[in-house]
Amino acid sequence: MTVEKSKHNLRILVIDDNRAIHEDFRKILMANVKEERLDQARAALFDDPQLLPVHDRFEVDCADRGEAGLVLVQEGRIKKRPFACAFVDMRMPGGWDGLETIERLWREDKEIQVVICTAYSDQPWDEIRARIGFNDKLLILQKPFNGIEVLQLATALCRKWNLAREAAGRLDELNSLVDERTAELQHMNGQLTHTNETLVRTIADLETAQAEILRQHYELERVASRDLLSGCLNRRAFYAEFERVFNERRENDLDLCCLMVDIDNFKQINDRFGHAVGDQAIQAVAICLSTGLRLTDSVGRYGGEEFCLMFPRTRLDEATNLAERIRLVVERDAGNRVRTAACLLITVSCGVSSTASGARSPLELIDQADKALYSAKQSGRNCVMAFDQSISGENGSNHAELQIRRVTPRPSGPEISK
Ligand SMILES: [Mg+2]
Repeated sequence: MTVEKSKHNLRILVIDDNRAIHEDFRKILMANVKEERLDQARAALFDDPQLLPVHDRFEVDCADRGEAGLVLVQEGRIKKRPFACAFVDMRMPGGWDGLETIERLWREDKEIQVVICTAYSDQPWDEIRARIGFNDKLLILQKPFNGIEVLQLATALCRKWNLAREAAGRLDELNSLVDERTAELQHMNGQLTHTNETLVRTIADLETAQAEILRQHYELERVASRDLLSGCLNRRAFYAEFERVFNERRENDLDLCCLMVDIDNFKQINDRFGHAVGDQAIQAVAICLSTGLRLTDSVGRYGGEEFCLMFPRTRLDEATNLAERIRLVVERDAGNRVRTAACLLITVSCGVSSTASGARSPLELIDQADKALYSAKQSGRNCVMAFDQSISGENGSNHAELQIRRVTPRPSGPEISK
């Protein structure tokens, strides 16, 4: 890194009560005008820049008291022409001594390099340091000094001052670059935060919309799968669920039972009380069928007055018990639920089947329950019949036989008039 010579600060301040010393410094530090002209002529004649003066051309100001030196330093600062280096005499009777002068100079200008000129007997170094403290801007020049020492000190300290100033300038540049870059990054960070917030809001909106779509989808699915009159699953939805459970049962080897239910003499209810009551009868039976079902059970409206129920993971005897209980609930409650027709007795006939009987498809299992239902109708209605297999021992050979058996005990008294 090079520093332009023209911009170098070469201002030197000499503070000494002995004015003869001022002249000594000027002779040493300021180039003799005649010599300089001679050097320039020589360099021009031989076209050799190396013949130009080897040392810097210093600008020297002098003061005979510390107070006057401080004024010169203050003026230099105000005019933006500070001193780079000050040579300060230690002993100056009648005013500030060297150390006080230096302290005051540094209060005014922290950058100024100082050489204290002292005879060893004036004040030992330890005492000087104890008073001023450690400072890398202070050097000692012992009296009597010689010109070379002074010249070397002035040259080195002015360069040190200039390098420090240049480094400070670079540091300022770097700091402003860092500030500029930091501001840009903060701006970008603000934009990113804003974008991020917008994205988060958008994602939240999308999630809300997605949840609403899902809710509507489930609602549509629920509506599409329900029978409007009874509120049970419609035939399509029931069969889909039935088929799924049938296949699942096959994988797990657990029994699935099917119950077909048909309202007894429904045509007569319609003919006698009208279709509105018929509809209410269907709704009343649907409520009775749904009451008390387990979470895994399902009920669907299979036809006009016909319902189909499924009991997963259920043995046939459990299913027939459930069916009988349902039949009794219908007989007891369904008629009472139809308010517009007094003393209406509603009963159902039920047919039960189980996969334990070997049905190979959902339709076959339903068909077996339907056969049992048909048998219940034939047996006087308002009863439960089961499609079951029984062991027959005719002619000494035991073999399984499929048959329909009655579940509901036969009434002991006269049958209810239908
Ligand atoms: Mg003196």
